Amino acid sequence: MYGMISKVKVKWFFCICMMAAFVCFNKSSVSAEDFVIGNSVFRYSENEDGTLYIYGYDGNDETVTVPSEIYGKPVVSIRARAFNKCTAMKHLIISEGITEILDGGMVGAFQWCENLETVVLPSTLKTIGEGAFEECYKLREINLPEGLINIGIDAFFKCYELRNVILPESLTSIGDYAFGHCGSIEKLVIPDSVTQIGEGAFLLGYDDRIPIYGNPYAYIKTYCDMDHKIKFSCIDHPNVVNDPAKSPNCKDYGKTAGSHCTVCGTFVIKQKTLPPNGQHAWELIRVMEATIRFKGYKDYVCTVCDRHKQEIIPKASVPKKGKIITDIKNNFSYKVTKSGTRNGTVECMSFPSAKSSLIIPKKVRIAGIYYKVTAIAKNAFKNNKTLKKVTVGQNVTKINANALKGCSNLKTIVIKSENLAFVGKNALKGIHPRAKIKVPSGRLDNYKVLFAKKGQKSTVKIIR
Ligand SMILES: [Zn+2]
Ligand SMILES: [Zn+2]
Repeated sequence: MYGMISKVKVKWFFCICMMAAFVCFNKSSVSAEDFVIGNSVFRYSENEDGTLYIYGYDGNDETVTVPSEIYGKPVVSIRARAFNKCTAMKHLIISEGITEILDGGMVGAFQWCENLETVVLPSTLKTIGEGAFEECYKLREINLPEGLINIGIDAFFKCYELRNVILPESLTSIGDYAFGHCGSIEKLVIPDSVTQIGEGAFLLGYDDRIPIYGNPYAYIKTYCDMDHKIKFSCIDHPNVVNDPAKSPNCKDYGKTAGSHCTVCGTFVIKQKTLPPNGQHAWELIRVMEATIRFKGYKDYVCTVCDRHKQEIIPKASVPKKGKIITDIKNNFSYKVTKSGTRNGTVECMSFPSAKSSLIIPKKVRIAGIYYKVTAIAKNAFKNNKTLKKVTVGQNVTKINANALKGCSNLKTIVIKSENLAFVGKNALKGIHPRAKIKVPSGRLDNYKVLFAKKGQKSTVKIIR
């Protein structure tokens, strides 16, 4: 398959082409132990067991295939120096059957093959010896076969272009500086089978190492723990925990949510830093309501940076009839029944339900305007179970339908108004059966008529 030539033919070829050979093969001449294919001359010798090894090469082929057999004898190894400085070679194929690229001497088997780009290794290979591909600056592609056991010292040192290296599961040792300065290797996955790694095996620079992936319970983790400049990452992280998000504010940075592995420290989801967003955490500390004559304002302080700000509240307009307004002192709500700056009226709508005693005032001042409170709105306090006592102010003339309906704990109603003229349907339905309604003495008879049959039990009394 290699176009083998007999020894006789080799000699014949030598005689005819001696001059050409000197030009083409600049190192040495062909001898009895040379094996020629194309423009390649492999120099070989025999081991004691009859197998062969290659110890030298001359040639200018761009693609070199190292034979696995010469004249019927198996080639099993390639010695150190054999192909060093073979600058014509771009592609190297080492045939099936060869088991070792040997250590030895100061110069590796393929050292300084400066134009070598790709290498195909045989599945039979067990060892890549010391300096084997050292300073093959352009070597970018090599397969490391399953079955490979050793990668020697400096084996790929300064193979600057080497990338996509996959280490086989059979590998047990990686020599000193084996992948030193292989700056194009983005990461190496170290199999569990590796139990010995030399100094600087992944060194790229003083602070720089090839990122390593592996099993955190295998030898590789122990190795990486001895060199803190190696970035180790589990292949499968055994314990990933969440890193909570934090919102930025006016002066502090925030973070997005993330997660990391507690064993190797790798961020599985990296948190992003969020810059301070200028958003103050405003807390309202004071409100001055606007009136129809004066603007109001709200004072705020930022709870993070103590900055103050003030919001102006425009002058109030006079609320129109039907508008709901709120007394901010106690959160009572009223509906305007007559608009005006001096003679407006409101009806009482609702009040905070946790209070048990309610006083409906004579008048109320909201946004600088006084209103007479002249009515209790329909359904105003319906079903309020906390209410025990209601005092109805002097200006109330109407208690509308269902106003106190269902206030089952309501026992005391004090009517201060002498001008009450209307009590709506079911206004008192469901109030406490022993409730007492206290009215101004001069109005007792009149109010007895007014409160008659508003839904209350007959036991409810109207008194002075
Ligand atoms: Zn991990
Ligand atoms: Zn702030």
